[in-house]
Amino acid sequence: MKYVLVTGGVVSGLGKGVTASSIGLILKACGLRVTSIKIDPYLNTDAGTMSPFEHGEVYVLDDGGEVDLDLGNYERFLDIKLTRDNNITTGKIYQSVIDKERRGDYLGKTVQVVPHITDAIQEWVERVAKIPVDGEEGPADVCVIELGGTIGDIESMPFIEALGQFSYRVGAGNFCLIHVSLVPVLSVVGEQKTKPTQHSVRGLRGLGLAPNILACRSTTALDENVKAKLSQFCHVSAENIITLYDVSNIWHIPLLLRDQKAHEAILKVLNLLSVAGEPCLEEWTSRAELYDMLHERVRIAMVGKYTGLSDSYLSVIKALLHASVAQGKKLIVDWVPACDLEPETAKENPDVYNAAWNLLKAADGVLVPGGFGDRGVQGKILATKYARENRIPFLGICLGMQIAVIEFARSVLGLKDANSTEFDPNTKNPCVIFMPEGSTTHMGGTMRLGSRRTYFQVMDCKSAKLYGNRSFIDERHRHRYEVNPNMVMHLENSGLSFTGKDASGQRMEIVELPNHPYFVGVQFHPEFKSRPGKPSALFLGLIAAACGQLDSVLKEDRFSQKIGTGKGGMSNGTKMVKTYQNGSPTKPANGSFDDVYRNCNGVQV
Ligand code: GLN
Repeated sequence: MKYVLVTGGVVSGLGKGVTASSIGLILKACGLRVTSIKIDPYLNTDAGTMSPFEHGEVYVLDDGGEVDLDLGNYERFLDIKLTRDNNITTGKIYQSVIDKERRGDYLGKTVQVVPHITDAIQEWVERVAKIPVDGEEGPADVCVIELGGTIGDIESMPFIEALGQFSYRVGAGNFCLIHVSLVPVLSVVGEQKTKPTQHSVRGLRGLGLAPNILACRSTTALDENVKAKLSQFCHVSAENIITLYDVSNIWHIPLLLRDQKAHEAILKVLNLLSVAGEPCLEEWTSRAELYDMLHERVRIAMVGKYTGLSDSYLSVIKALLHASVAQGKKLIVDWVPACDLEPETAKENPDVYNAAWNLLKAADGVLVPGGFGDRGVQGKILATKYARENRIPFLGICLGMQIAVIEFARSVLGLKDANSTEFDPNTKNPCVIFMPEGSTTHMGGTMRLGSRRTYFQVMDCKSAKLYGNRSFIDERHRHRYEVNPNMVMHLENSGLSFTGKDASGQRMEIVELPNHPYFVGVQFHPEFKSRPGKPSALFLGLIAAACGQLDSVLKEDRFSQKIGTGKGGMSNGTKMVKTYQNGSPTKPANGSFDDVYRNCNGVQV
């Protein structure tokens, strides 16, 4: 097993996760099997308790792990399935050491950060790196480890120490350190400044780690003399200094690395030059280039809690993007804060209210994503009602499906107080109820999490067709509430169709309105399994319906399409591709450091 460690310096928000995923991708394109580990030095055991509006979405894995959103980048770029242990946090490491201490495993020794915590980190990395994640047997060839945070952070110190020891233990030729840093350009003189990178490399060396490769974020390609200076002060050869300048979409990042021969530099450090081939990125390249050329728009209104952090719904945005690129459309996401659609806002702030409704009405499709808590529920119900009555394509995910059922019960069955017991525990018409898989009295550990099976009830429905007429599908879940099974018959008699259920038939997984152009609600989160080139079936349905192309998509033979499961995203073509050595083909409108790899719409690919 060979290891590539990716660290970050100078500032956070450099796009380290995307860089690490792209490194994994080019190594995979060279024919190697790649896995990855993300280290988050925070104290939380996992991301499950963290607010998506502060930290970005909670990404859910097949095994039910609630993890950092960077694991989503790895799964999407490398087309792999990770486990919860692929996300290491300080909380997990300390918990395992403290558990061992309580069991008496340390035989009376004083338990300390060095060596006990640092040993636990190394053992964890070694153990998890061996888990196959690509559907093949046996361990991968290379494990990409991303260390979250910035060099110098107090909380990452035990990890740096552990990884320093680890690099020494696995030995030269088995460990490659890539340091992602920033080379700012001062607008007054237009000069690329190397000092911040020099300082952060010095910090890294002071902690016992020497970088093999520098990946420098900058607005433009590094001048040769700037590279020479960095090389001299950081002791990294000039050919091992890569520039990651601003590009029009993040799919260009692996191509930037490839064009600057980053794969050769990495393979050389890892002694893999003789076993790896030239990177085959033809399909990837076509998609990155196609994306830049798309101009026909499809507008999707995302009706959720919106606090300015688009990462809160990262996988949903990615899934929409995969589907729109597959349909040859340029995605425009209109963020509609659910609260702004409510009558309260009309009274207090009519301009905001009108703006929100205008956005919703201008959309080609409406998406109500998952969520917790009752803020904005009324607005989501109004948006869903609008989509149902005006025959606008609609996709409701998790809470979005529950909202669709509540709205139907209120408007069509006339049950005015129909509600979820999450929002009104005393409702007389509980159409969504607390239905955990475990205890019904304890909230802790009662979430239905991870991959669960859905069986189609009828094959003549849009969702079954979109999934390629399979009899069942496996998708990821994260919820506690469910459609009340006692109300299903009543709802079905009035036209709502529960086209997918779990094995017991008690949990409603998919709901559809058969006589609507596209009205689908799902209890699961299909966004987590969407991949570039293999869009999630239901997102494809939404985008196709929003562009008036659903009929032709439904007629296609989905078995021969790369949807859902299936192999690989890379072909073996040898087409020559455009190189980007001399500057970005299209610069983002906003060149700020926090906005790296974002395109002009503010939608990150
Ligand atoms: N709050 C709802 C539940 O717990 C929906 C959760 C979600 O959308 N992820 O069932």
